[in-house]
Amino acid sequence: MAETVEAPAVTRIPHWIGGRRVESSSGRSGPVFNPASGRQTGEVDFATVEEVDAAVQAAKQAFPAWRATSLAKKAELFFRIRELVHERREEAAEILVREHGKVFSDALGEVTRGLEVIEYCCGIPTLLKSEFTEQASTGIDVYSIRQPLGVVAGITPFNFPAMVPMWMWAPALACGNTFVLKPSEKDPSASLWTAELLKEAGLPDGVFNVVMGDKVAVDAVLEHPEIAAVSFVGSTPIARYVYETATAHGKRCQALGGAKNHMIVLPDADVAMAADAAVSAGYGSAGERCMAVSMIVAVGDVADELRAAIEERIPKVKVGDGMDPSSEMGPLVTREHRDKVASYVENAPGEGATVVVDGREGVPDEGFFLNPTLLDDVKPEMKAYADEIFGPVLGITRVATYEEAVRLVNESPYGNGTAIFTRDGGVARQFQFDVQAGMVGINVPIPVPVAYYSFGGWKASLFGDRHVYGPEGIDFYTRGKVVTSRWPDPATSKVDLGFPQTR
Ligand code: NAD
Repeated sequence: MAETVEAPAVTRIPHWIGGRRVESSSGRSGPVFNPASGRQTGEVDFATVEEVDAAVQAAKQAFPAWRATSLAKKAELFFRIRELVHERREEAAEILVREHGKVFSDALGEVTRGLEVIEYCCGIPTLLKSEFTEQASTGIDVYSIRQPLGVVAGITPFNFPAMVPMWMWAPALACGNTFVLKPSEKDPSASLWTAELLKEAGLPDGVFNVVMGDKVAVDAVLEHPEIAAVSFVGSTPIARYVYETATAHGKRCQALGGAKNHMIVLPDADVAMAADAAVSAGYGSAGERCMAVSMIVAVGDVADELRAAIEERIPKVKVGDGMDPSSEMGPLVTREHRDKVASYVENAPGEGATVVVDGREGVPDEGFFLNPTLLDDVKPEMKAYADEIFGPVLGITRVATYEEAVRLVNESPYGNGTAIFTRDGGVARQFQFDVQAGMVGINVPIPVPVAYYSFGGWKASLFGDRHVYGPEGIDFYTRGKVVTSRWPDPATSKVDLGFPQTR
């Protein structure tokens, strides 16, 4: 008898609107893969304009009651959300591994960093404290208050399917807004997991909604007259488009784009430490991090020793299925993305770069793997330098002086993260002063700010003027009002047509 081979189950991934799963009637959908096996595991619904509107209407309906909920009750709920996410972080991490491909420990790290933002939001009563001036004028007090915007939306990338949405929904909800999330269609299940967890924690229906989809859903969000603000994280061309379209439709917008992060290594640096950092920050999450180090700028005579130290470490990086506890680096998110990344390695010699370690060699047949790759002699005019490759490809560029190194970083169109490795405090301080980037590491390769600072880059890495989470996140999701107040004695009342003056 012939053996029957069971086809892998493909799960339908619907929207979450008004506190429940809602299937799309668009007839349009997209495949979701397990990048480690290359097999399709899900089929995600793509929203119609009407379905996006249904989510906005659910959020609009929920807004008045949520806005009126006291800060004490909001804080209590955030503590419950914090506990639930913490208890169930391994469940979330597994979802991330199975759809994104990153290794389990890295996925747990993602959830933990997102959790820090939720913890920050537990302090919302303190965060929304305002100013009060007694007796600004005789018998007159002045105070400021911050109020929510209404319905706000988040559009998120594939590379942090749990954490980046947490950067947005946590401060947005804590400030009293209601929320519509449009997650990446490549790994959408974490957002449904979040929606169910928030409901379990006690969040009222309609306060948090998820619409699955592609450009149709994004455009419907950007053009919707009842969405007050849009947060976006993704690649630079889409970030620019989102910012221009959202602001043209009268919305507040913060749109974080791509990156090309340089790590400068000075001749006095501890070479072993710099090599450990370059390998960790270059190949962690298969280089699919907007804060990944992608270019090493080796200054003076450090280049040869540093290259040898990195080359020595690469074969020890264990590449494999993210659910295997011994794996340190997983596959890339899709076959197309893996092939695009590999094309930079293919083209590097033609551009004049040297392929020191070729990650296309020795990859498993199954899944979307590419091994750690090292290029040397990379120059700014090459595509391997200029483009955000977003894969496990580390490039070395060689310069003679610190000044030349800083000029390279400052001439990059991006300005997300950057780092310097040195033992000289004076030079490090000068670097912090000189460099044009939003997040700077001094002997720290991935300087993602803690939750009580804010995250964001400069130049083509951020469109808009507010960074995400931390104090700027609270600022983004609220608007200010100043109240001038008087409780006059009716006996002193009179008509006075002059412009109000302080007395
Ligand atoms: P992406 O720009 O392709 O997609 C981001 C979002 O935009 C997704 O929800 C997607 O559905 C939507 N989208 C894609 N194409 C669109 C189009 N033509 N019109 C309208 N919407 C569209 O980004 P990605 O590949 O999912 O994520 C990787 C990128 O995100 C990298 O460039 C990375 O640097 C960047 N990123 C930046 C940060 C940051 O903080 N600056 C953080 C994480 C990721």
